[in-house]
Amino acid sequence: MKNIQMVDLKGQYNKIKKEIDTSVLNVLDSTAYINGPEVKAFQTDLENYLDVKHVIPCANGTDALQIAMMGLGLKPGDEVITADFTFAATVEVIALLHLTPVLVDVDADTFNINIKALQKAITPKTKAIVPVHLFGQCANMEAVLEIAKTHNLFVIEDNAQAIGADYTFNNGVKKKAGTLGNVGTTSFFPSKNLGCYGDGGAIFTNDDKLAHTLRGIVNHGMYKRYYHDVIGVNSRLDSIQAAILRIKLRHLDQYCDARRKAALYYTEGFSENQNIITPTISDFTTHVFHQYTLKIQNTDRDALHKHLLDKGIPNAIYYPVPLHSQKAYQDKRYNESDFTVTNTLIDTVISLPMHTELEKEQQDFIIKTILDFINN
Ligand SMILES: *Cc1c(COP(=O)(O)O)cnc(C)c1O
Repeated sequence: MKNIQMVDLKGQYNKIKKEIDTSVLNVLDSTAYINGPEVKAFQTDLENYLDVKHVIPCANGTDALQIAMMGLGLKPGDEVITADFTFAATVEVIALLHLTPVLVDVDADTFNINIKALQKAITPKTKAIVPVHLFGQCANMEAVLEIAKTHNLFVIEDNAQAIGADYTFNNGVKKKAGTLGNVGTTSFFPSKNLGCYGDGGAIFTNDDKLAHTLRGIVNHGMYKRYYHDVIGVNSRLDSIQAAILRIKLRHLDQYCDARRKAALYYTEGFSENQNIITPTISDFTTHVFHQYTLKIQNTDRDALHKHLLDKGIPNAIYYPVPLHSQKAYQDKRYNESDFTVTNTLIDTVISLPMHTELEKEQQDFIIKTILDFINN
């Protein structure tokens, strides 16, 4: 059996090595390293894939969130609501822009923003909601969008983990994750479902005016060369990464299928054990399994984590500390009683190896090792 990896970037690269190498060498030869034709071509390819009017490439997923918030004109003191159980980038940029982060609890079964908690957190100062499509499936966007409409709020989807997922509205309309709100963001960090070989990110929107604003902000606030109309940043996707992403985008649906297949195999393997709770998929979304995350009951989760590492099975705790308890984001406004779900999840979740190259033999070994450790 091959060594098990959390994410097998090498195995995935080897399968498309010729295509990738050729197109990277073409960029080197062209010397159009910044804003070259590959960037524009990738932008168009991704617009077509997502069926969205505008894709604005940028340097990483954290910048994408920050630029989206700048583009919407959010001002210091505006409250922005997001989930307590996510990667820190989301709350980091809210705080950096001197907006006020308002963290709310998540659903125990999907790990996504809890709609009741979201409703309860709205005040006259609330200006935006940032649902995070955590681990690869969409938050309840029908409810989020309805709340946003009622209270006149912006919706910024943090889609760093769910690119390629499909959302189906009650009326049957289907859209790609990240294209449902006013603006969506993603990350092309190498281990993400659509990852490049360095840093990268993008912003999506169907709003022409917002797209124009965002294109200026990513480029020092310039709409005409050396005329700075607004305060911007320098945030670019480079041409080499764009060339790599163009090739990988052609494989994205197949990558999503491979992840789903591996997830189903895990779920079947654990189905008999009452102390292992496998992922729940909401009926309005497909799941692209950026992470395959179990909840463990009546077992010492940290002991399982160590045991698996000892057996050569990488695994991770996403996330070990809820954002409201992080030193940087503590705030007297928060009550522990408002975070009963995230406070429980941090002690029960464990994410297993999940990537496009997992083999049955490896999964059988992982499943057996876990079942042997956790008594029914
Ligand atoms: C990875 C990630 C980001 C940040 O992306 P970077 O490209 O690393 O800046 C933001 N939000 C979520 C939910 C992520 O998983």
